[in-house]
Amino acid sequence: MVTRLRFGYANCFLLSGQDGSILIDTCNYYNGEGILKLVKDKNVKLILLTHGHFDHVGSAQYLAKRLNVPIAMSEKDLPIIGKGEDSILLGTTALGKLFSFFSQPVLKRAKYSIFKPEVLLKEGQELNEYGVNAKILELPGHTKGTVGVLTEDGEIVVGDAMFNMLRPTVARIFEDEESMRKSVDKIKNSGAKTIFVGHGKPIKNI
Ligand SMILES: [Zn+2]
Repeated sequence: MVTRLRFGYANCFLLSGQDGSILIDTCNYYNGEGILKLVKDKNVKLILLTHGHFDHVGSAQYLAKRLNVPIAMSEKDLPIIGKGEDSILLGTTALGKLFSFFSQPVLKRAKYSIFKPEVLLKEGQELNEYGVNAKILELPGHTKGTVGVLTEDGEIVVGDAMFNMLRPTVARIFEDEESMRKSVDKIKNSGAKTIFVGHGKPIKNI
């Protein structure tokens, strides 16, 4: 079962199974204590990051230490977490340049402690060893290494592969538009009835 934990504009999720639970995403660096309060008695066995952006990995290092659990993410997003700030903010891409325009406030929010994922996620990977019946779907586009988590109960957590700010949409920000659109089709055809997104309310998939 997926429970949405909302912290300002960002969501993280508790995925509870029969023998444990997984914390999916960790919001911003200043949300660690708040998240810890909600999940500390929930037998969390893994912190799973849908992708490497600061508002999803912000409290990963803090929570991994406090909960004493490993961090999992795709190898393909390792390059954007290297320095504890989003590489996308460095201004090498058109998007980066756009962000640079807003650089002061964005960079302040983009801070987080460096961490090292011990588990690297791949398409089809089962998460049973962490107590839940769910598997990984690779959903590239928003970032190269974006992954979703599909449960056997028909719920899917997709990070920023889709948005639901005012209404459900494809990712508003992306590294590769074509793969982003294919990933949205993959989500819609996944058999999931409810789509949980990083920003906004869950989306019904009908
Ligand atoms: Zn993102």
